[in-house]
Amino acid sequence: MINKENKTIFDKLLIHDHEELIFCNDKKLGLKAIIGIHDTTLGPSMGGTRMWNYATENDALKDVINLSRAMSYKSSLAGLNAGGGKAVLIGDIKLKSKKYIERYASFINNLGGKYWTAQDVNMTTQDILWIKNVCPYVVGLPKEYGGLGDSAIATAYGIYVGMKASIYQITGNNSLENKKVCVQGVGKVGGKVVDYLIKEGAKVYVTDINNKNLDNIASKNVQIIETDDIFDVNYDIFSPCALGGVISMDNLKKLNCKIIAGAANNQLEDDINVPNELLKKDILYLPDFLINAGGIISCYHEQINQIDLEKVMQMTETIYDKAIDVFKYANENKITTHSAAMQIAVKRIERNKKKSN
Ligand code: NAD
Repeated sequence: MINKENKTIFDKLLIHDHEELIFCNDKKLGLKAIIGIHDTTLGPSMGGTRMWNYATENDALKDVINLSRAMSYKSSLAGLNAGGGKAVLIGDIKLKSKKYIERYASFINNLGGKYWTAQDVNMTTQDILWIKNVCPYVVGLPKEYGGLGDSAIATAYGIYVGMKASIYQITGNNSLENKKVCVQGVGKVGGKVVDYLIKEGAKVYVTDINNKNLDNIASKNVQIIETDDIFDVNYDIFSPCALGGVISMDNLKKLNCKIIAGAANNQLEDDINVPNELLKKDILYLPDFLINAGGIISCYHEQINQIDLEKVMQMTETIYDKAIDVFKYANENKITTHSAAMQIAVKRIERNKKKSN
């Protein structure tokens, strides 16, 4: 397969040194999946399965390559003994059935534990349970099935402590009281972030395209704004908790805030121009793969069979100190916080590579 930029698959794998891509096919079931394993230096690769009706197969390939790499950095920064992996199921969610998911699970099973999956976009708890029927390499199970339950609990806590670290970095005080915070997307994670913010006395603005999710929080002390009007207000913190790619050069012309700290994966439109623009505009950016690690911390504890939510939350709380370390490293080296977080993550992987050689 050649992609748009005339790069072969191996060219693509070489850019960030991915270990493996596994292409899975079942013609009868319409199953097309790609499992991406970026790096297993620190441990078995781990990352959710996403189902998406990609416009092209190359878009799916790009997604799995980017997402699996981000998972390596996320686990490394969080201090987990886990590598980076991700999987994409290509097609309309109508394709999904018990047979389809179980067949997909059989491909994961064939990898013998080199890749562990979990829930991501368009995958349900039922899908996770069907995977579990066929293969043990799945985490993020409900409590009644021996798992730790909703990983959004830990993810939201990580976002909250990350916000506190960033406000401390700017003001020397980590209180969020009276700070204006906009949460874009009040789903599983964003909704819980809102609760932390209200409890601490922040002035909370929310937006969502799903009215049902807005209804769930309408009675709380929040100001609901139209999705198109989010750039009309000056915020202390803008918190993307919906989709990736929202921090673009275009949006940066309109966005007025001091800090960006949210849950969405791959928030930045690119790795270089956008982080540099953030630095120029003096907006403190908390790298997504640092701040949203609560979910993977929860999944990791399930993988090592430590079903202990308190431990998960304690480890998630260390995101506060890790954020302060990233700010310090970025300042000392005069680089963006995005580059700083990546460099710290890569260094840990490299150190462990040397040890095992
Ligand atoms: P979710 O689907 O429960 O919530 C997302 C919310 O964003 C929904 O309410 C949706 O309606 C809203 N939304 C979508 N597009 C929007 C737009 N253009 N403007 C405003 N709102 C919009 O998902 P979630 O589990 O809360 O995850 C939120 C983000 O965090 C996702 O990007 C996810 O990949 C990432 N993330 C989640 C976890 C986790 O543990 N759940 C872990 C790490 C990262």
